[in-house]
Amino acid sequence: MRAILHCDLNNFFASVEMLTKPELRNVPMAVSGDPNKRHGIILAKNQIARKYGIYTPETVYSALRKCPKLVLVKPHYEEYVKYSKLVNKIYQKYTDRVEKFSIDESFLDVTESISIFGTPYEIAYKIKEEVKSKYNLTISVGVSFNKTFAKLGSDLKKPDAITVLDYENYKEKIYDLPVNMLLYVGKNTKSKLNKLGIKTIGDLALSNKYRIVKHLGKFGEQIHNHANGIDDDPVKYYYEKEERKSISKGITFESDISDIIVLEKEFVKLTSDVAFTLRKNNMKASVVSIVFKDAMFVSSSRQKKINFTNSFDEICKSVIELVRENYKNGVAIRYICVGLSSLKQKSDNEQLDLFNMLEENVKSKKNNENKEKATKVMDKLKEIYGDKIDYASTIDIHKKVPK
Ligand SMILES: [Mg+2]
Repeated sequence: MRAILHCDLNNFFASVEMLTKPELRNVPMAVSGDPNKRHGIILAKNQIARKYGIYTPETVYSALRKCPKLVLVKPHYEEYVKYSKLVNKIYQKYTDRVEKFSIDESFLDVTESISIFGTPYEIAYKIKEEVKSKYNLTISVGVSFNKTFAKLGSDLKKPDAITVLDYENYKEKIYDLPVNMLLYVGKNTKSKLNKLGIKTIGDLALSNKYRIVKHLGKFGEQIHNHANGIDDDPVKYYYEKEERKSISKGITFESDISDIIVLEKEFVKLTSDVAFTLRKNNMKASVVSIVFKDAMFVSSSRQKKINFTNSFDEICKSVIELVRENYKNGVAIRYICVGLSSLKQKSDNEQLDLFNMLEENVKSKKNNENKEKATKVMDKLKEIYGDKIDYASTIDIHKKVPK
């Protein structure tokens, strides 16, 4: 059996701000995109602000209505990167299997470390205390036998806490939780599952797997397994850099779609996801492909060569062209997929600097440079908020591709 930890830095951005400005510890404070603009977004808040019901992400406007004396602080992204690296260095003392999941979250496989450092709980405790004493930052740790449950565990108790989910207690501890607390179950999947009468993790675990697969495809099988504690995804070594050959994402619709406008919107959503993954891997692609599967499961795929790019706009333009050239109006479509291939690593010297990026107006489209910066801001936000971030709203596909 493996011993996996998920370590999550609590209120990370806000906690780092309080390190440099201790006076912020005693007031309700939040880090926000642009404190001067009321439509800015709350990126993180301290415990006091939390008591006012302020959550992330919500608009500065709505947060200030809840708490007019809320102190707003600009983000200092380079500081967050610095502390993230320092804390991960601590993790690496306990195992070389440390996989960064986001700027404030990492998975650790400590199976091989038990003989040296003690039980998984003891290791979690040592790490938690070391992070606290060295950097005055707290973490929540989930301890379990796979990544999904370790991640879930770290969400159950915070701040400064450890939660163990083992074979004996996991059903009792997680079965009643809402199903979207499970890793990778986002808003869309949640609403699909809710329609099937599945509200909790327990509902999913005890449901008929084939019914889930019928409605959600292969992904359905994956989350059904996850709910039952079946997840053998390994924790990568911290020095491991994944080489990807292609990136793709597909979706099976709840009911068939035969309206090209609706279909295009779905293609745009998938495109924003694959383009995001591409940029996250610091890559560019030169081949775009699409797949349609109709109601009779007949599939057709088309691909197109493009100039090396990682721009959502450019990739999207080609995807929409492919759709318009190949979709026969009125045909009922059950499944679609967008793929990127012929990938190449981008030069690695561009350090992300959210601080400077947020200074720019996200909506500014004056030139390509601004656009690239805006995309980077969106990417950063997507890393934090996942599906809540919608790239499609930044482009107008009907303008891009004249009929
Ligand atoms: Mg966190």
